[in-house]
Amino acid sequence: MNLHGLTGKVITPFNKEYAILRLEYNLDINKFPLAIVYCYDPTDVSNAIKWCRSNHVEIRIRTGGHNYEGYSTDTAVLVIDTTYMNKIDIDTKRNIVKIQAGARLESIYSKLAQKGYAFVGGTCPSVGISGLVLGGGIGLSGRNFGLVTDNLLEIQMINDKGNLITANKCTNSELFWACMGAGGGNFGVVVSYIFKVYKVDKITVIQLRWNEVSRNKFFELWQSWLRTADRRISCFAGFNKEGIYLNGFFYGTKSEAEEILKSFLLLPGLLKSSSIKYVSFIDAVRAIGSFYGPPDRFKATGRFVYRTLSEINIKNLIEYVDNSPGKDNCYIRLYSLGGAIKEVSSNCSAYYYRNAKYIIGITADWEKDDDAKLYKDWVSEVFQYVKPLTNGSYVNFPYAELENYGYEYYGKNYQKLKKVKTLYDPDNIFKFQQSIKP
Ligand SMILES: Cc1cc2nc3c(=O)[nH]c(=O)nc-3n(C[C@H](O)[C@H](O)[C@H](O)COP(=O)(O)OP(=O)(O)OC[C@H]3O[C@@H](n4cnc5c(N)ncnc54)[C@H](O)[C@@H]3O)c2cc1C
Repeated sequence: MNLHGLTGKVITPFNKEYAILRLEYNLDINKFPLAIVYCYDPTDVSNAIKWCRSNHVEIRIRTGGHNYEGYSTDTAVLVIDTTYMNKIDIDTKRNIVKIQAGARLESIYSKLAQKGYAFVGGTCPSVGISGLVLGGGIGLSGRNFGLVTDNLLEIQMINDKGNLITANKCTNSELFWACMGAGGGNFGVVVSYIFKVYKVDKITVIQLRWNEVSRNKFFELWQSWLRTADRRISCFAGFNKEGIYLNGFFYGTKSEAEEILKSFLLLPGLLKSSSIKYVSFIDAVRAIGSFYGPPDRFKATGRFVYRTLSEINIKNLIEYVDNSPGKDNCYIRLYSLGGAIKEVSSNCSAYYYRNAKYIIGITADWEKDDDAKLYKDWVSEVFQYVKPLTNGSYVNFPYAELENYGYEYYGKNYQKLKKVKTLYDPDNIFKFQQSIKP
């Protein structure tokens, strides 16, 4: 293959770094792209798109490489990687930040913290801003400040013809609407974002742990508590065979947080390692981020919960976990929604499931390739049980086995998304297994 025309840093199977650079965060993904082009600027991106068109090579777009199903790579494609475009420019007069598409959460949080700002992001430091915001983006500031995408003001993108375009509420407004929740990889290669940011000093970071005895009570309490919980608090929780965790941010003092969480603090089995601390925003981010280890092999997905799950439902979910393979590898996870997320109407952005109370996650990880089937079968079994109890799937927790994925990810917004796709990528050059078709 003649690579003439590609600019930036091009990695092919002949480079020794290829063996590492072809990998995704999920080590279960095992694809062999034709080449990876690391772009330094929008011109490199444009050249890559034009090269793919004239050489009839499929495109995949990558930033943090954290897509659960590996949709940012594939075999025999050109991966356009935006990692090296990672500048972060803060405008303190207007309380906005311009972030190039390749930045990871860790550097965004750190840079903004130096100027006293919080960023409405997710919890894992190595996740790329691009995949996160384009799929909506949930996090521990969500109930207070909305989704990551609710704080997005503008994007710049290289389109299907290789041209730089801007999208915001006034210009290319339907494309902007689509980019707020449709998930990455569908309409073009985003090269930069403008977000609003918030001056924040200290917040309360919550890290509670219990042994396994209270899992029933915990789940029931989670559901009733969330119905009326203060919007300044957001929590991600979960349990496996061995115990329960609850991580959260509260935009207020420690004593207020303790009062808000008092029913949780009374649950039996609370471990001594639990803590509630009033700290700087960046320390809170780092405390939660420190739980993420190096890449591993995993299968995971997540569904939107609208209804209250019954005692039997909860009992069954705990049974699934107790009968799962491995010691502590399989989790049911709970991600709070509501608050500011719910205040935006479902048709204001492509992110559809605004009225869901929380997301239920099903996750399993393993070390040896030979164990993959065992764990994937467990996720599949629990997924079959959870699906009829829930209303749709979160596109940033994608599941390759999901049928009718367009409706499941986007609900009633799917038809409009197909129209935007037809308008901006009629030849469908930006595609992957679960992309939006024109
Ligand atoms: C450990 C871990 C923790 C997570 N925590 C959270 C969380 O707290 N909140 C949450 O909401 N989600 C979370 N996620 C899910 C995460 O939001 C998605 O996996 C997200 O898509 C990752 O983005 P990425 O850029 O790292 O991944 P990539 O795999 O690089 O990209 C994801 C998708 O976006 C596309 N894309 C990438 N860059 C661009 C670009 N420049 N222009 C256009 N399309 C692009 C890709 O083609 C792909 O389809 C987590 C995932 C993991 C693995």
